[in-house]
Amino acid sequence: MTETRTALVTGASRGIGAAIATGLASRGYDLVLNDIERQKADLEAVAENIRGMGRRVEIVFADVSDKEQVEAMALKALDAFGRIDALVNNAGILIAGEVDGLAEASWDAVMDINAKGSFMVIQSLLPSMKKRGYGRIVNIASIGGKHGAPQQAHYSASKAAVMGFSRVLAQEVGPLGITVNCVCPGIILTDMGRVNLDDPAVREAWQEKTAMARIGAPEDVVGPVAFFASDDAGFVTGQTLNVDGGIVFS
Ligand code: NAP
Repeated sequence: MTETRTALVTGASRGIGAAIATGLASRGYDLVLNDIERQKADLEAVAENIRGMGRRVEIVFADVSDKEQVEAMALKALDAFGRIDALVNNAGILIAGEVDGLAEASWDAVMDINAKGSFMVIQSLLPSMKKRGYGRIVNIASIGGKHGAPQQAHYSASKAAVMGFSRVLAQEVGPLGITVNCVCPGIILTDMGRVNLDDPAVREAWQEKTAMARIGAPEDVVGPVAFFASDDAGFVTGQTLNVDGGIVFS
């Protein structure tokens, strides 16, 4: 790496996003950290830790499902660092509920944040990436978007949307030096992951279903994201990589 790279990570206050931001910082990136304002204390703690590693950090609170806030975030990020080399769309939510009784508001919230949010953050930064002829976009999808589990139809649909969108975007922006790839975590121990893991019997069942015979940690997701974000992955685009210890084999 000849110059300091910059990355923007959404939903970076905890869980997988905090691990990715910290992991990119340890690989020499300066960071724009995003989360929703209610996560202020946690996001500032992540920022403090990264500054302690000698990296520059800009915090931008924004709800990724709000176009105005997303556009303001892009302006602030570009103002702070001049460019964003790698964008990691990680912010997401999971609301459990069977299709039968699923509230329309739950469907909308999951689609708005997980699918439309990723689209809007990408759209806000694409012009600057196109202008430079360089960009690395990494979307955090989920094995749920390929495989799914009961009570997660809307979550599964949102993550499948992210993968479909990414494959087409990869074709549109490939000639401009921008890559677009997806990482699909499996069962990862975070506040969101606990939905799948609260019941010890369910947790054991997931471990048994996993070739590596363990539940994932947020740090397990970092290496694959860092690879897609790096120059080493310059000829890799439109791909989805399962990071699940061996649950989905595709
Ligand atoms: P998490 O612990 O719940 O963290 C997600 C972060 O995103 C939270 O800080 C959350 O804030 C924030 N966020 C939510 N809505 C937002 C919005 N509108 N704008 C900006 N930030 C927002 O979840 P995680 O497990 O680390 O998941 C990170 C990503 O990995 C998600 O996209 C998730 O779907 C995906 N994933 C996770 C797993 C797993 O097992 N954990 C598996 C597959 C994929 P609030 O909590 O205040 O809403």
